[in-house]
Amino acid sequence: MTYIYLKTNHELINNPRLQYVIEYINHHPVWPEGYLITTNNLLSNHQICIEYSKERSENINYFVPVSDTFFKNIKHFSTTSLQSGQYHYKEFTLFSIEENRKEEAFLIENTFGFDLFETIFFHISRYEEYDLNVYDCDFRGMLEEQKHFLVRETLEQIPVVDHIVYCFASSLGLSPSKLKSKKSMSHDIDHIKKFGSFSKFLRLQGGVVKRMNASKLFVQTRQYFTNTNPYNTFDELLISDDMSKYIFYLMGGISKYDVVADVRDEVFLNSILLAKKNGYQIGIHPGFDSTYSVDQICEEKKRLEMVIGEEVHISRNHFLRFLFPATLENLESAGITMDHSLGYRSRIGFRCGTGFPYKIYNVAREMITGIKVHPLIVMDQCLITTAISTHQDIEVIHDRFVGKNEYFTMISYNFHNSIFDFAEMRGFELKTLYQKIKHR
Ligand SMILES: [Zn+2]
Repeated sequence: MTYIYLKTNHELINNPRLQYVIEYINHHPVWPEGYLITTNNLLSNHQICIEYSKERSENINYFVPVSDTFFKNIKHFSTTSLQSGQYHYKEFTLFSIEENRKEEAFLIENTFGFDLFETIFFHISRYEEYDLNVYDCDFRGMLEEQKHFLVRETLEQIPVVDHIVYCFASSLGLSPSKLKSKKSMSHDIDHIKKFGSFSKFLRLQGGVVKRMNASKLFVQTRQYFTNTNPYNTFDELLISDDMSKYIFYLMGGISKYDVVADVRDEVFLNSILLAKKNGYQIGIHPGFDSTYSVDQICEEKKRLEMVIGEEVHISRNHFLRFLFPATLENLESAGITMDHSLGYRSRIGFRCGTGFPYKIYNVAREMITGIKVHPLIVMDQCLITTAISTHQDIEVIHDRFVGKNEYFTMISYNFHNSIFDFAEMRGFELKTLYQKIKHR
């Protein structure tokens, strides 16, 4: 093991946020194996010494400037005025977080141009999603997407954190791995049946009328009266391959946005058998309001465990509703160890600045949690939303995004069992793209 000594002042050595980021970098998949950053100068065989301070001193190998934005001010502050700065390094452009926007710059030798530790902390801790003003929230009580730092700066399609870690290692003279981006697949099962009742059928017809597509009225009428269930897509969806795969079941909770799962339904039970057979990990999709209650998450989780006959440790919230720190703490108390909720609801991209799973920090309690976050990058509906708003082809949107991110990150998908029909009712076709993703 080779230690990289991070030399900094006493206050920062004991700062849990800095220690969290160091641990994060040391475990990052592109970070070179065999190298560990440490603030402990007793581990004396270090070959590289990084000075992390306000001013650079003489005879130092490498320098990172301290910005004193998130590490010093433990008291929470509004992040709405923060801006990004651009730093060029080799073929990369890196994006910092600054209180005042600076001119574009190049990383010069043996110096990282901005405080990468604080920048990484901001993104991966989801600092900006704590202590929200009610005017900045959407109907879920979450920070409105267009107010997210990365969205404001139109950087959400770049894994800014993964690029920083790679370039940091490279500029230290190490050889970080140029990883080809892996893909992972997941599904949220909100509705097993398309038409639970006649009134549901009428409601769905109302939607078609609103979208003014007469031919779909006919298609939907035929579906209903021939007893077809277009949401039974599990044979096409749950394919065995070498991707990591997850499936999340909504068992139904206490909110009007939830549907209570019928655990005796044949399609539901068969989907579980197929998921198990094809190597899926099964998780809970806690209801809309469960986010406030450990007991409710536990109750829903228990119902799923009874059906599948095994314990459940993974989760993704319905509507991706994740409130900081309440949801984090409730999931942890409910025995969840990995959560897949951190993605955008109406666009594709990297909400946490990274595509790789990582341990998340609780900013309110100043400690690393037991929860690993598996960021969600591409959700099916977001592709449709983007296609509608930009008048572009879905496959073009997808391929361009994946093409830009062929290396250095990970791309996780969420395809609902209802999406192929949902797309068809809106004049889109998503099956071909799904098969392409699975067979590439
Ligand atoms: Zn859902």
